[in-house]
Amino acid sequence: MTTPSDTPSDTAAARPPFNTDLPAFDRMPKLLTGQVALVTGANSGIGQAVAIAMAQAGADVVVNYVAGTADPVVAAIEQAGRRALAVKADVSEEDQVVAMVAEAVKAFGTIDIMVANAGLQRDAPLTAMTLAEWNKVIGVNLTGQFLCAREAAKEFIRRGVRREVSVAAGKIVCMSSVHEVIPWAGHVNYASSKGGIQMMMKSLAQELAPHRIRANAIGPGAIRTPINTAAWETPEAYAKLMALVPYRRIGEPQDIANAAVFLASDMADYINGITLFVDGGMTCYPGFATGG
Ligand code: NAD
Repeated sequence: MTTPSDTPSDTAAARPPFNTDLPAFDRMPKLLTGQVALVTGANSGIGQAVAIAMAQAGADVVVNYVAGTADPVVAAIEQAGRRALAVKADVSEEDQVVAMVAEAVKAFGTIDIMVANAGLQRDAPLTAMTLAEWNKVIGVNLTGQFLCAREAAKEFIRRGVRREVSVAAGKIVCMSSVHEVIPWAGHVNYASSKGGIQMMMKSLAQELAPHRIRANAIGPGAIRTPINTAAWETPEAYAKLMALVPYRRIGEPQDIANAAVFLASDMADYINGITLFVDGGMTCYPGFATGG
């Protein structure tokens, strides 16, 4: 929740010992066998976990990244027995998104799942926020998701349903945030981008449903990734953060990956146009837990 970061994700080894009671997921159900997923911002944090989980669930994965390297994610996908293709592209640039989806279709024949995950923060109080900071966040978080959803939808409609892999022609999963509903002082660009994602996703869901394309979003709460290191890296910061989380643990990227696999699968075939909050109850107004 402070400094935006394009650095590679934290690893299990780097975790402070806060989460000692996580569920063990040693076997991901093969819900996505034979499908192709494209995940944006997939070389860090949530995107990385989603990309690897999609492979563990049986999908080949296109790993979008804009900075650094995607090699460790590609290696993990191949280790899971699936094919991976790393594509460097800035999701806020139309020509790069068009080229990325075309490259994915050329390599794998089609795509079945678009996880529009790439996002960043450029925080400032309103009166100090520059137009460049506003435009950057809207450009990546909202316009980027629009471009990715649009290009994916064109491919889904072109190809239609392949019943042998899924009863839907395609699935769009937008990475939103609890801040699509919780206002966030000092982050007006970020909260606006996430509020925009909510209505974009719902409009897409309505428009694309006749094509048997589903669009949903995930609203993560506080998830341990490089985007919000300052909020969890010290015991003091972590304790403060927990006041906002009724379930009293930080979320891990795997928590979001599990939801993404579910939403992309036929298990979720009648789920269309919703945001699935994965937040330990952060959207349950924890300030009212003792009666307000
Ligand atoms: P992260 O910084 O670890 O990962 C963000 C990824 O997006 C990185 O791979 C980065 O390189 C990529 N990216 C940034 N700009 C890009 C661009 N122009 N084109 C392509 N890729 C780009 O952060 P994260 O926490 O994993 O965030 C992933 C998504 O989850 C974001 O949309 C974020 O808003 C959302 N989210 C995160 C949290 C959280 O607590 N971590 C909470 C709510 C929502």
